[in-house]
Amino acid sequence: MDFSLGPRATRFRSEVKAFLAEHLTSETIARMHESGTFNDRDLNEALALAGLLEGAVPGYGDRDPIELYVLFNELEKAGAPYDGLAVSMLVAGVVNAVGTDFHRTEMLDKLLTGRFNCCLGYSEPDHGSDVASITTRAVRDGDGWVVNGQKMWTTMAHEADWVLLLTRTNPDVPRHHGLTMFVVPMDTPGIEIHPVPTMASERTNATFYDDVRVADEWRLGEVDGGWAVMGVALAFERGVMGGTNPAVPLLRHVRAWAETDGSDGSGRMVDDPLFRERVARTAIVNQVSQLLTLRAAWIAAEGGLPGLEGSMAKVFASEEYQRIVGWFQQMAGAEGLLGFHADGAAADGWIDYDARHAPVTTIYGGTSEINRNNIAERHLGLPRNR
Ligand SMILES: Cc1cc2nc3c(=O)[nH]c(=O)nc-3n(C[C@H](O)[C@H](O)[C@H](O)COP(=O)(O)OP(=O)(O)OC[C@H]3O[C@@H](n4cnc5c(N)ncnc54)[C@H](O)[C@@H]3O)c2cc1C
Repeated sequence: MDFSLGPRATRFRSEVKAFLAEHLTSETIARMHESGTFNDRDLNEALALAGLLEGAVPGYGDRDPIELYVLFNELEKAGAPYDGLAVSMLVAGVVNAVGTDFHRTEMLDKLLTGRFNCCLGYSEPDHGSDVASITTRAVRDGDGWVVNGQKMWTTMAHEADWVLLLTRTNPDVPRHHGLTMFVVPMDTPGIEIHPVPTMASERTNATFYDDVRVADEWRLGEVDGGWAVMGVALAFERGVMGGTNPAVPLLRHVRAWAETDGSDGSGRMVDDPLFRERVARTAIVNQVSQLLTLRAAWIAAEGGLPGLEGSMAKVFASEEYQRIVGWFQQMAGAEGLLGFHADGAAADGWIDYDARHAPVTTIYGGTSEINRNNIAERHLGLPRNR
């Protein structure tokens, strides 16, 4: 089996690497961790100007999803702020797949400049995994809609220009059949954003919709057809656009730390055989994660929707990431509990950061249990969970 990329994707990978070597600074990375907002419009714009965003939208332009995978894989491995960009490209992909000329004119070209952002408004306080049960209402009002409700975990809402908003338009039919998707400009009167800090220092938000008036032209897909739109979005979200190689930057930081002498004169961690074995295991996990992601990207490149393969890549990579950072935190002892800027922090605080960040990765974008259900039902043919 030949796992190598074709010539175009290989060239594209070199271009992205060269771009990151020139434009991604330690200040950009530090700023993202200090602000908790994993988005940098200047970097996004520079990517666009270098021609590297062009066609990164799934199904758009002449680039294919292998290049999309390469772009986000390189951003992730370099530790760059890419979450905001990934959501924007995902929404651009959904708009491209099911949107109207109005959506394309209003949004697509802007998103490709790197200066505009989207956020995802699916989850609610009582409905995360069970997103088909959401209760945020959109009610017809003349030739528009009025939206009322609350969303939870609307990451990037405070930076976003639009929210991809899942609403209930018909409460009297089975729950999957009464949903409608909208794109709503975030400056529409009636939208309130409240910050929610997380243990990983990443900011997310609760968002409130109080008599928000939305013109019908912002509706994405059919009335009561929101579940189908959701399916397109989820297929893009899991797998291809980052989130499946988080232990790559961790390994880089841990290896650099292990080369230094311990503060208590205990020598270098890199000379410990157990440490070396764990480094080797981490490198293997990183390689397997990359190949699982590449499989999802390849399916997308063949015109398929890699929802199942994306679930496989996400479960494997996020659970291994948690396990791996646990090893290194144990080996670092108390210094592995010290954060950025603390004197004596192991790996300059990266072990502490990754240990706080890793748990989140098995929750957002669909929990491990939900992804396992997906694999069990669609791959193993087991009975439906609900
Ligand atoms: C940092 C962060 C950022 C996020 N960003 C966004 C965002 O931008 N936009 C957005 O819309 N959402 C976002 N989310 C929400 C995320 O998608 C949900 O948290 C996730 O889907 C889980 O939903 P929940 O939190 O309501 O947990 P619940 O659904 O209440 O789940 C609780 C537990 O029960 C388990 N469980 C639930 N149902 C089943 C089942 N059928 N079978 C087996 N186990 C089950 C879950 O796996 C979990 O362990 C974010 C979440 C976090 C933590």
